[in-house]
Amino acid sequence: MRIEFDEKLDFSDVLIRPKRSTLASRKEVDLQREYTFKHSKQTWKGIPIMAANMDGVGTITLAKSLQEHGLFTCLVKSYSVQDITKQSNVLNPEHFAVSTGTSKRDFESLKETLQLNPAIKFICIDVANGYSEHFGAFVQKVRETYPSHVIIAGNVVTADMTQELILRGADIVKVGIGPGSVCTTRIQTGVGYPQLSAIIECADAAHGLGAHIISDGGCTCPGDVAKAFGAGADFVMLGGMFAGHDEGGGQVITEYHNTHQRNQVTHEPIYKELKFVEFYGMSSSTAMIKHHGEVAEYRSSEGRTVKIPYKGQVETTIKDILGGIRSTCTYVGAPTLKQLSKCTTFIRVHRQYNDVFVNSKH
Ligand code: 5GP
Repeated sequence: MRIEFDEKLDFSDVLIRPKRSTLASRKEVDLQREYTFKHSKQTWKGIPIMAANMDGVGTITLAKSLQEHGLFTCLVKSYSVQDITKQSNVLNPEHFAVSTGTSKRDFESLKETLQLNPAIKFICIDVANGYSEHFGAFVQKVRETYPSHVIIAGNVVTADMTQELILRGADIVKVGIGPGSVCTTRIQTGVGYPQLSAIIECADAAHGLGAHIISDGGCTCPGDVAKAFGAGADFVMLGGMFAGHDEGGGQVITEYHNTHQRNQVTHEPIYKELKFVEFYGMSSSTAMIKHHGEVAEYRSSEGRTVKIPYKGQVETTIKDILGGIRSTCTYVGAPTLKQLSKCTTFIRVHRQYNDVFVNSKH
């Protein structure tokens, strides 16, 4: 047994220090990035924010909305070959990835999807624990079969495994174990790594090899997305922040909550109408039962099922996130998203914001 005493940080442990800036307005900030990927040599241009391959988030409908704004979607694994093929004329291959697990059946289905849809450019090989030898071997097999596709692989949280996956053929490594909004891995297993430090360490390892990383999980507000970019993430993946919208396809649940107030004339109790959408982790019992019919006996659920406020159309959320990051850039004097990381100085804090009225919203 060993203990590392180096302090590791989460988004909530830091703030970004403002700096003198010559930028007159947020309008001047360019959020587009251009990347050339290490192995595939493919180039990409867009706003490097991604929807996670989770139910209610990584849907074809959400992908259509995000691509209009230059953002990206990792589609859920459960789409069939036919589902994806039918949408091939409306989905822009620059802005989505098909997701796959690592079983023999997954590989067969990936091959079929790519054969029928030669325009697909991005493959996301996604497992909860990217540390297994089997996973590395699978990434290598996909790279050998598809030399010019962009391969995303994860999840890991340390520099050594980031390098290993890149050497096995990943262009982009997905970083994050346990930070997710509906993740219970840290509770169920005690395993994890504070996300900000994971980004800093994995980005350093990937950039040294000419590859890229995605910060996956843990962003709760636009400020966290800005911190992830500031820490060196090339892409930021969001689950919870993109959940609860019309485009996710979840059922809207309407509830009437007693306000404990009465109408002054009729003295009837006043109820407030609240709308929610169910959201769950992809390793939750809800997801396992939905996709596999049962929770296998040898494993436990590592995800939560929650009810989150219904948020309407995703367009408003996209504008809110992009507006926040543009503003971060103006605070630190970064005319482009590319420069945000160079302009970022994090300061260690013990209080992020004043929450005195957080629960007093109308
Ligand atoms: P969020 O943006 O909601 O904080 O995090 C999204 C990420 O959480 C996903 O991209 C995925 O990596 C992770 N995730 C999704 N479902 C589960 C789950 O059931 N268990 C765990 N451990 N992580 C999950």
